Amino acid sequence: MCVNSSDAVQQMNSELQHAQLELLSAHCAVHQLRLHYSVNELACFGRRDVVRKSAEAASALHDFYSRIESSSSQCEPPASVPEPTPEQLAQAVEWLASYLQQQRDLHLPVCSGLTPQHKSMLRPHFSYLLLEKTRVLELHGARLSPPEFFAQIRAAGFEPPAISHMDSVTFGDVIVFNQHVTLRALFHALVHSAQIQILGLRRYAELWVQSFAKTRTHFTVPLEVHAFTLSSKFLSPLTEKFSVEEQILRWKDEGRY
Ligand SMILES: [Zn+2]
Repeated sequence: MCVNSSDAVQQMNSELQHAQLELLSAHCAVHQLRLHYSVNELACFGRRDVVRKSAEAASALHDFYSRIESSSSQCEPPASVPEPTPEQLAQAVEWLASYLQQQRDLHLPVCSGLTPQHKSMLRPHFSYLLLEKTRVLELHGARLSPPEFFAQIRAAGFEPPAISHMDSVTFGDVIVFNQHVTLRALFHALVHSAQIQILGLRRYAELWVQSFAKTRTHFTVPLEVHAFTLSSKFLSPLTEKFSVEEQILRWKDEGRY
């Protein structure tokens, strides 16, 4: 594979991030194991083949990431990118907020509610009201086309996020899935729905644009970091009941968005 376009770099970072989330889940599982049992107990009573395969996997992963880290010093630093002006940022917020609203209204008539199964699985983490009013649409690979204003952003010399590579896009209470609904993608999207409900659509757009302009990667926008972290927490095997809305209110109060 040749990573020479910004789209390919976005795709690569999306896969890199996905692998990192899986590693975090593994890390969390091992941490629980360490809390419950001593190394001695695991060595004496743990199944030998399972211990050996786990050690092999962990050391192969360590080798792989160490090789990447040691090679990264030879890479050229990325070319410097221009800073957007406050007017350009305000314009982008305007575009994003109206795009989210328009897409919500456009898709709403063909969406359906969450299945009773999804509702019961998600009930320990989201309010009844949010789950009741959420509407979803599956595009089965048809994929959302990028918003028209992306062309203007490119013309100004900036690179917008690659939305066709995302699992889903949240337009308030309407969620559009590029493929089909998976539990991880649904949870992630519902975190955004709750963020929009709590922060308001305009403030959400403002925070998204401001953070993206600073970091230039979708995965480092705090609104995204929170959605990724909470969906990993939800999928971890030892997860407890937690309220997404409470977590969002906490991040909002602490100014973490
Ligand atoms: Zn997201």
